[in-house]
Amino acid sequence: MDITDPDASISSAEPKPHRGLHQKVFVNRNLTLENIRCYGFDMDYTMAIYTSPDYESMGFEMIRDKMVSIGYPHEILRYTYDPSFPTRGLVIDTKYGNLLKVDSNGNILICSHGFRFLKGENIAYYYPNKFIQRDDTDRFYILNTLFNLSETYLYTCLVDFFTRCTRYTNQEKGYQHGDLFMSFRSMFQDVRDAMDFIHNTGALKDRTIKNLEKYVVKDPNLSVLLTRIKKVAKVFLATNSDYNYTEAIMKYLLETNVKSGSPKRLWHSYFDLVVVDTRKPLFFAEGTVLRQVDTNTGKLRIGTYTGDLQHGTVYSGGSSDIVCDLLHVKGKDILYVGDHIFGDILKSKKRQGWKTFLVVPELAKELQVWEERKNLFEELKLLDTFLAETYKHLDSGSKECPDISAIQTRIKVLTHRMDMAYGQMGSLLRSGARQTLFASQLVRYADLYSSTCINLLKYPLNYLFMAPPVLMPHESVSQPAAGLVSSELSEIVKITTS
Ligand code: IMP
Ligand code: MG
Repeated sequence: MDITDPDASISSAEPKPHRGLHQKVFVNRNLTLENIRCYGFDMDYTMAIYTSPDYESMGFEMIRDKMVSIGYPHEILRYTYDPSFPTRGLVIDTKYGNLLKVDSNGNILICSHGFRFLKGENIAYYYPNKFIQRDDTDRFYILNTLFNLSETYLYTCLVDFFTRCTRYTNQEKGYQHGDLFMSFRSMFQDVRDAMDFIHNTGALKDRTIKNLEKYVVKDPNLSVLLTRIKKVAKVFLATNSDYNYTEAIMKYLLETNVKSGSPKRLWHSYFDLVVVDTRKPLFFAEGTVLRQVDTNTGKLRIGTYTGDLQHGTVYSGGSSDIVCDLLHVKGKDILYVGDHIFGDILKSKKRQGWKTFLVVPELAKELQVWEERKNLFEELKLLDTFLAETYKHLDSGSKECPDISAIQTRIKVLTHRMDMAYGQMGSLLRSGARQTLFASQLVRYADLYSSTCINLLKYPLNYLFMAPPVLMPHESVSQPAAGLVSSELSEIVKITTS
């Protein structure tokens, strides 16, 4: 028996556990694990999963208090974090103070102003084409990471507060108070600055480290996964966090309470290379100066490091090219595992051609709701068939104009019911039959995705991940079986017209 594998005794003696839906790794593009020569891991929200909603609540309270300390009204202290409201991937329109959920082309799926959800004509007032030019990054801010949830919610609370507070007059681009004007844009900037403040001063990190048990989820299988991978490939850690924080978190994850009987190992030893302060996404382009970290003091050594890889050394900065050079691997041989759809996944794939694995902690809930409510989606699909039936005998010469308002209403009702099953802003991935911007990026840039990287443990390390064949609309046209459809359709007609 190999004693370096912490659960070798368990894994060899017992039958392999069943791979349930929540333990699956999902596939957008075929990938052969056998060809992967190097695995890279991000740390925050990838190996270190923060406890939800406690962690976001802490972040929310810290930025809320910071806002009060710079002059925002004390009344906002009444707001507490509500995890049922924000989802990742939403967009803040800093011009009008709206929170938007959009699809891959920028078409608006949901729009809220504070906690008020806007409907058709109100949305059209702000966005006549029900569309945003999301490349306008000066105006539109995409909330890409789970760290952003707290600020999404705080911004919503502020808009809610000022809209309802009688001391302030509502204007199109902000609020008037005497001879002071507070724009939605400046409010957004204040929230952003508060967020940067709690990250960059180390305030959030200090509180996390003081209460690791509460805020960081520890899974003993992480050490098992890393040990197994290191036997067949190189492994590196690339995080935007600084050395001292990385040390505290990784020590907690890998050095405390590992499975009984396993030998004590230092967390560094699970990796061939550790790089902190990576400044992703810059890391996947020109990067920054590579420096060595003095692991006794946490300080950086002066000068750019130009030597070969030294085992046990921790580096700061650098770039993805430097990682390839130090580890003697090519980009196509690397599988990088991260949670940030832009900074980890889109950039590593687009700029370096790395293979990518997106960690989507929300997937556990998404899967559960999907299982429970997919009948609503089936009904949406049937409505589509019903529409096609309605127009079946008509062409461009027809004068008849069928009344489809009941179907349209039903589509809205079903979409709303589906959305509400996930939370107030709906699913991370869809709104009714339409996919979100986040979903489209996930499909395009993540080769694999799962709710946790630990799920890789459930597959042999030579596994061929096969993407399910996806049909284009013209390929998926099929004539429905007459008997089945007519009964189901008549049921729908009853529902839609009742
Ligand atoms: P990674 O996911 O391991 O690469 O690390 C994420 C790092 O980014 C953590 O150190 C966070 O503190 C930091 N971070 C996340 N969001 C913000 C932000 O809004 N401002 C500044 N730093 C952030
Ligand atoms: Mg991360």
